[in-house]
Amino acid sequence: MPNADMVQNTPVQKNDSAGHGGHAQPSGSADRKGCMQTESSAARGRWQHRETVNQANAPHGRGGHSISERTTHHACSVSDSGAPTPGPDNNDVTAATITATAGSAATAITATTDTTTATAASANITAATDTAAASTAATTASLTTTSPLAVPRAVCDVCPRHCRLAPGRRGACFVRSCHADGLIYCDTYGVSSGFAIDPIEKKPLNHFLPGTTALSFGTAGCNSACQFCQNWELSAARSWSRLGSHASPVDIAEAAASRGARSVAFTYNDPIVFAEYAIDTADACRERGVHPIAVSAGYMTACAARDFYAHMDAANIDLKGFTEDFYRRVTGTHLAAVLRTIEIACATPDCWVELTTLLIPGLNDDDAQLHAECAWIREHVGPDVPLHFSAFHPAFRMMDEPPTPPGTLTRARRIALDEGLHFVYTGNVRDAEGATTYCPGCGEALVARDWFRVTLDRLSAPEGDGRCPTCGQTIPGVWK
Ligand code: SF4
Repeated sequence: MPNADMVQNTPVQKNDSAGHGGHAQPSGSADRKGCMQTESSAARGRWQHRETVNQANAPHGRGGHSISERTTHHACSVSDSGAPTPGPDNNDVTAATITATAGSAATAITATTDTTTATAASANITAATDTAAASTAATTASLTTTSPLAVPRAVCDVCPRHCRLAPGRRGACFVRSCHADGLIYCDTYGVSSGFAIDPIEKKPLNHFLPGTTALSFGTAGCNSACQFCQNWELSAARSWSRLGSHASPVDIAEAAASRGARSVAFTYNDPIVFAEYAIDTADACRERGVHPIAVSAGYMTACAARDFYAHMDAANIDLKGFTEDFYRRVTGTHLAAVLRTIEIACATPDCWVELTTLLIPGLNDDDAQLHAECAWIREHVGPDVPLHFSAFHPAFRMMDEPPTPPGTLTRARRIALDEGLHFVYTGNVRDAEGATTYCPGCGEALVARDWFRVTLDRLSAPEGDGRCPTCGQTIPGVWK
């Protein structure tokens, strides 16, 4: 059962969108030293496959890279995972080592890249100002690693990093590891960094049960490396010391229901790195009439995204910028994979999706980038997907950057509306107009908010029916 004293009721005035917004991590976590190594089947990685090393074909006595037993738990199809095929979605630190050396004698070395490399790569990502430098460092590290080539690797297909792990090794996210049975597990299954009761508007979700609350929780670790992360103490954690007491999926669902929370939100760190825990909790929530919500950066494989969002009733996905250069340098991830996730999530039946872009002065707030982003949203997922522009506040490795001026948010919102998006909001600032839902048909104000407090609601049941009371236009969202 989530410890009652870990549940806080004091919201802060920033949203929760992964890696940047809320810094709302509860402070009531008890210390929990050391790593937990669970081998329960529930914690077993859903998306992974095995990779073997064909020594008979090995050049110069090195193992050849032979793709393998793609048979284990919930393995991605080859086309989905893209593990052996370099491409825009796996062109990251780990995959880059594969790409750089595929088809050569060095393939054997890179094929056995293990978590020593992955961890080094992760450290390099967070330390480096340029992910290209991190990739180079990772490649160098892999080439100089003495690898036990006879040991098959488990390949994690959760995110485009596709970490290749020998038993005892950890992925770049730190919280998924290969156990003695040769399978990858989610080591934070069943433990949380703490719980908080938040307004749903703080996720942020403006078209999903406005005025209700969500029981929010996260774990530790992350597969992104955002230099502006506001939850870096959890996301960049390299120990379990920030995690609190155990809480089973059923415990969490019942805690939410007993506190009157309509939803449970997986947030603070990216839930894809604890996806098995989040999915089991989501299922337990649905059985009790509680809605599961994911707040994520969307950096995951297609097969993981399809499975993950099928278990969610709502999601907020970060679209952190709209150039590959920004994604690579500032987040250590890649834009194409995130765009694919957004398309998958938006196409998932019964999963309501909203998007968030944190605007950082001089990095992702120019008119051209904003026009391109909004045009992509309109053309690929439609103008009815709500978009939140949030204000940046200096944090983590970007303490010297200035906060976002309110005028930047207003300009971005105007660009988005001009591009044809119907529902555009500003966040992390007090802005009555940017916090209001207007009817795209007649312009009537339908839901008004003051920070996270709903001050007007003409859409939600029982008075509302999800349609504009003035012109009758249906407003997309979940209103009861
Ligand atoms: S989720 Fe973690 S272990 Fe899996 S590929 Fe991504 S960084 Fe590696």
